[in-house]
Amino acid sequence: MTKTFCIVGAGFSGAVLARALVSNENIRCVVIDERDHVGGNCHTKRDTKTNIMEHCYGPHIFHTDSKKVWQYVNQFGNFHPFINRIKAINSHGVFSLPINLHTINQFFEKTFSPTEAKAYLAEIREKNISNPKNFEEQALSMIGRELYEAFFLGYTKKQWGLDPTQIPASVMKRLPVRFDYNDNYYSSQYQGIPEEGYTAVIKRILDHPNIEVQLNQKAEREIINYFDHLFWTGTIDSFFSHQFGTLSYRTVYWEKQYFEGDYQGNALINYTDLSVPYTRIHEHKHFTPWEKHEKSIVFTEYSKLTEGSDTPYYPICTIEDKALFQKYKTLAESSNKISFLGRLGTYQYLDMDQVIAQSLNFSEEVLNAIKRKTPIPVFNQNFR
Ligand code: UDP
Repeated sequence: MTKTFCIVGAGFSGAVLARALVSNENIRCVVIDERDHVGGNCHTKRDTKTNIMEHCYGPHIFHTDSKKVWQYVNQFGNFHPFINRIKAINSHGVFSLPINLHTINQFFEKTFSPTEAKAYLAEIREKNISNPKNFEEQALSMIGRELYEAFFLGYTKKQWGLDPTQIPASVMKRLPVRFDYNDNYYSSQYQGIPEEGYTAVIKRILDHPNIEVQLNQKAEREIINYFDHLFWTGTIDSFFSHQFGTLSYRTVYWEKQYFEGDYQGNALINYTDLSVPYTRIHEHKHFTPWEKHEKSIVFTEYSKLTEGSDTPYYPICTIEDKALFQKYKTLAESSNKISFLGRLGTYQYLDMDQVIAQSLNFSEEVLNAIKRKTPIPVFNQNFR
């Protein structure tokens, strides 16, 4: 007998799940999104004046260590190799990120070899922090106070609106410190940007006779009554009408400007001083170096707490948030016919590749549950 599932959210998590579920020919998926496009926050479209591929909800550079995920996305689009070489500007000058041998030598006006730089950082890092409890302690124990203050303190305060002592150490741990001249921001084995943008990739993932996409439709919880099961990739607290309170997110917003020529010579430049009100500037034509554009579109990015109808981007995950999330999780686990996934549904700081891996994984659990006639899990096994 055919089962019809509803998936709320047409970003990577919803699209990948839908496509994997319809591999069972007795499953139909209706994917609903309140926006007028698929792709969620990865949405890209050509700017009408310049024809430059615009990352409409901020820069997205695909990177992963998972061969499975890389092969998966490459089935749906041609990914051009792209190395993200971020620059940072602060009162000391312009440097490359992540912190690497060039950054260290330039910042301290030295000509250290890798071994010498390692020894120097071992000397300047704060040695009395053995088990870093927050972002600041993690940074101080990795790189010492001077580098921390120049590159992380101001940027992090602007980005998160919190003192770094209130931010989990895991956020800092995402970033490498390198003792060679490798200035590739990511360490992942596979990196690239889809030639025709992310929306084209996600459209292709959704292009299947058993998948119906409905745009411009805000889904409410009651929609559950019309389907065999509901998969929710939106915020979990909004699904439950914020009954225990609101989980906190940071949102980002931009000032867009047009420019003749090359504005900053790089895709991304971070402004790490607190005295500069914005966090970074992105120039999108540099995300497609295989295209030629005389004109440019430039975005100055600011960050603030999500309020009202703002788009949630980064789960803040304070101790209070974590406790609140647990309440929603317990409530979710007592409901039936509903599952939560994705960055917003599981309130996790996930990159695109992690979201895809989660959906692929989860789809297997769902298909197995259907085969065994057991209840569909509420969350992905790896998450529980
Ligand atoms: N960060 C910073 N300065 C930088 C880049 C990053 O302080 O120039 C901090 C900031 O708190 C950020 C975190 O390091 O949230 C992790 O960086 P990543 O590039 O992974 O952050 P994302 O782009 O996901 O915010």
